[in-house]
Amino acid sequence: MTTNNVELAVVSTGARSEGWTAEAMALASLAHTIEGYRFASETDAVLARHEGDEGLALFPSVDELIESGVELHALASALNNGLTGEAFADCLRNLDVDTLNGALANFAEAAELHATHPDPVDRAMHLWGECGCCEGNA
Ligand SMILES: [Zn+2]
Repeated sequence: MTTNNVELAVVSTGARSEGWTAEAMALASLAHTIEGYRFASETDAVLARHEGDEGLALFPSVDELIESGVELHALASALNNGLTGEAFADCLRNLDVDTLNGALANFAEAAELHATHPDPVDRAMHLWGECGCCEGNA
């Protein structure tokens, strides 16, 4: 947790410490996104800084999520696309990690598709590979 905070501080100040790989930078950025959803309110987040996050955080730390095998990229993407910390915590309690990762990927994919194709007909065309935007990969 402490190491993580140092890494996050480095990222948020834009400073780049020596020896950082692109992978570590990307991971810190994902961790930063995910951390932003760990508490139901700013008050809880502030309290947790003083009292520890036991009983305050909605879901385990990024380090613990990595240990559990949660796909951080899919998680960050789903959170950015409207998944709430509470909903993720529910999934985490009720699904095994493979099912969870699949659900996260689907959630992010569906939300991204909605964002780029707000019209249901466009979405259907896209899924059939008849959409201008996907000529390259259809
Ligand atoms: Zn399309």
